[in-house]
Amino acid sequence: MTDVIDAPAAVKPINHWIGGKPYEGGSGRSGPVYNPARGEQTGAVDFATAEEVDRAVQAAKDAFPSWRALSLARRAELFFRIRELLHERREEIAKILTAEHGKVLSDALGEVTRGLEVIEFCCGIPTLLKGGMSEQASTGIDVYSVRQPLGVVAGITPFNFPAMVPMWMWAPALACGNTFVLKPSEKDPSASVYTAQLLKEAGVPDGVFNVVHGDKVAVDALLEHPGISAISFVGSTPIARYVYETATSRGKRCQALGGAKNHMIVLPDADIEMAADAAVSAAYGSAGERCMAVSLVVAVGDAADPLVDAIKQRIPKVKVGDGMDASSEMGPLITREHRDKVASYIDAGEGDVVVDGRENCPDDGFFLGPSLIDNVTSDMKAYQDEIFGPVLGVTRVKTYDEAVRLVNENPYGNGTAIFTRDGGAARQFQFDVQAGMVGVNVPIPVPVAYYSFGGWKSSLFGDRHIYGPEGIDFYTRTKVITSRWPDPATSKVDLGFPQTR
Ligand code: NAD
Repeated sequence: MTDVIDAPAAVKPINHWIGGKPYEGGSGRSGPVYNPARGEQTGAVDFATAEEVDRAVQAAKDAFPSWRALSLARRAELFFRIRELLHERREEIAKILTAEHGKVLSDALGEVTRGLEVIEFCCGIPTLLKGGMSEQASTGIDVYSVRQPLGVVAGITPFNFPAMVPMWMWAPALACGNTFVLKPSEKDPSASVYTAQLLKEAGVPDGVFNVVHGDKVAVDALLEHPGISAISFVGSTPIARYVYETATSRGKRCQALGGAKNHMIVLPDADIEMAADAAVSAAYGSAGERCMAVSLVVAVGDAADPLVDAIKQRIPKVKVGDGMDASSEMGPLITREHRDKVASYIDAGEGDVVVDGRENCPDDGFFLGPSLIDNVTSDMKAYQDEIFGPVLGVTRVKTYDEAVRLVNENPYGNGTAIFTRDGGAARQFQFDVQAGMVGVNVPIPVPVAYYSFGGWKSSLFGDRHIYGPEGIDFYTRTKVITSRWPDPATSKVDLGFPQTR
């Protein structure tokens, strides 16, 4: 449990958002929010009690009947307004992300843009909610299906995409007619509160979208709450497993996306310069704090030496600095503790440290420059752990089969990529590999909004991927109606089991 923080005077209080307005928490517990580029505390976020979570659920419950009854035409119209407003304020949202998360402004804008794509998909909600119809399924009988919302649903989100990952959840949930309680990461919570303000400004009725902040107390209160029908979670694997097991044991629908260890395989025939550009971009973008980051390059055969050399040459050119500075390409990590943990892999004595990122980064704040460890093998912590920072490992293998075996034996199965000029090898890889998202000469294959996002194995607990068509499935349940409009003249008592005729 996080300690009570004595917030300095300049520190901004960050409150919950319940029933269409800010709600000051009364728990007496809060968490520090930092500007990671300066290493200073800038905010103190309220930590909710179970009673405060209940208040948010109640607000969502009260808002549900009229929100659910809003016509599809009106809901679509509102989503167009939400899209326009968030697009108009994307710079403001991005600045909030950079201030609390640390990612550089251009990357933060990219995050908002990818999140907006999910909202754009949701503007088509009338089409997405269409059911099926079978006329004359039996003589004089029609059968049709409708999709209906679940009720109050909740989202619990990680620190690394403070705007986009919540959009993956609240946008389809609301579009389907549910009302929502969001528990964002306590490390960078302001984007969620700003989103709540913008949704209100766009015309979303009070209580349809609520935000409660906090730690395990708030999460457990959501998981236990009988008024919540479904939970979407994105975060680390141990918490994803816990959330999935707890939520489903309470009868809730749950999708819980976990961590990752994404392997990028480079075959000897690949364009090595292109592969090196991709590896550097995907390993060090957002300081490696992406669930789709490449954290391991698997170099096959002769690819290894030139590839390691090409990556090594690119690293000193990566400009590490405050994300608000337009010339910065990579910002700091989220907290000092996380930075120190990531840096510990460089000192662990595993593999061969080719580049030590501590030599190429500002002293203030929570910075660690791009780091490279060669000859990482599968028995090492640097191979097994997610790391979630700018430490890229290189594993050398002799054959394609060995490379694929590594991916398939890994407990995670989020994303993976292959770099090759051989279409046949790429196609075979797509067929063989056990991961939910696969890139062919694309290092970060995050699906577009009209597909769905999700990994395999320990990267996802649950049956439905997030956003896209599977997101619509997750946030609705179907009802099948069998209907007859008989001629009263033909009506009679018949105790037999209904049969099709
Ligand atoms: P985290 O698991 O620490 O936190 C995620 C959420 O769970 C937060 O809201 C946090 O408050 C809550 N939480 C933390 N500890 C808890 C506990 N003991 N009980 C109940 N709730 C708890 O994750 P993080 O550090 O914020 O984010 C990074 C992780 O998220 C990485 O593992 C990354 O791979 C993963 N991630 C996965 C995806 C994906 O789509 N698969 C996307 C983004 C991030």
